[in-house]
Amino acid sequence: MSCTEETDDHWSYYNPSKWHEHFPDASGTSQSPIDIKFHETVAQQFPPFEFSPDHQREINFTLTNNGHQVAVTLSKDSENLNQTDLSFTGGGLTGKFNFVNFHLHWGRTDRHGSEHEINGHTFPAEGHFVYKDLETQQTAVLAFFFYVVRSENEENSEWKKYTHIASLLTNIGDTMNCALNLSHLMQIEKRRFFRYMGSLTTPPCTEGIIWTVFLDPIGITEESLNLLRNNVMRRTYRPVQPINDRIIHRNYGH
Ligand SMILES: [Zn+2]
Repeated sequence: MSCTEETDDHWSYYNPSKWHEHFPDASGTSQSPIDIKFHETVAQQFPPFEFSPDHQREINFTLTNNGHQVAVTLSKDSENLNQTDLSFTGGGLTGKFNFVNFHLHWGRTDRHGSEHEINGHTFPAEGHFVYKDLETQQTAVLAFFFYVVRSENEENSEWKKYTHIASLLTNIGDTMNCALNLSHLMQIEKRRFFRYMGSLTTPPCTEGIIWTVFLDPIGITEESLNLLRNNVMRRTYRPVQPINDRIIHRNYGH
C-alpha cells in the first residue's frame, strides 16, 4: 500500500463519521451523498444541458494525487484555453457553470465505490465533474455511475486513460498531464438524471451544492479499478447521509 492514505489535513476515508469534529458542516441536514429511492423521487421537466464546444475535443489536463483522490484540472499549458471555455448552461440551472475539476471515487471491491446509491444499490465507482458559476459562486456537480465490463472493448477509453495515468501517481503531490475528451468521459448523451440540493462529499462538506446524478452507468474494467486500488488508494467514498426533508427530482417518467 502506498503512503497516500496518510495526510495531515485532519480527515481520511477511514473515519467519515468523525469528519464533523474538524468540519462542522459535515453534520448538517443537507449532506451528500444520499441513497436515491425511485419511489420517493418527483418527476419534473428540465431543459437540456448545453455544453460548450471545447467539451467535444481532446484537451490537456493535469492529474494530481491530492492525498484523497486523483483530481483532474485544466493543464496550465492548455493552448490558452481557460476555465470559461469549458462551461455549460441549461439542465434547469440558472447561469453559466465553468469547469473546476473532475475525479473518481472507488472502493476496495466491486461491491462498493460509488458515493450515491440507487434504491440501496451501490456501484463500483462514481465520477464527479465539478463546475462553478463564477458570478454567484454556486457549485454544481455532475455525477456518473460505473459498472464493470468484461472486455476492454466495452470500456470507456477515456476513463481507461485516466486510471492508467492515475495509477502512476502513487505519492501525494504527484502530477502528470494527459489529453482527455470531457464529453467522452461523461457520455453526456446519457439523459436520465436525478436532481437535488446537497453538499460536497469531502471536507469541509459545504452545503448548497446542486447535484445532478445520471442514472445510466459508464463501463470500466476490473483491471482498471484494480490499478487504482492497488497503486493509489484502497477506497475513496463517503457513506450515504440522511435525506431528511429534501425533495429529489427526476427528469424522466412524467
Ligand atoms: Zn467527488
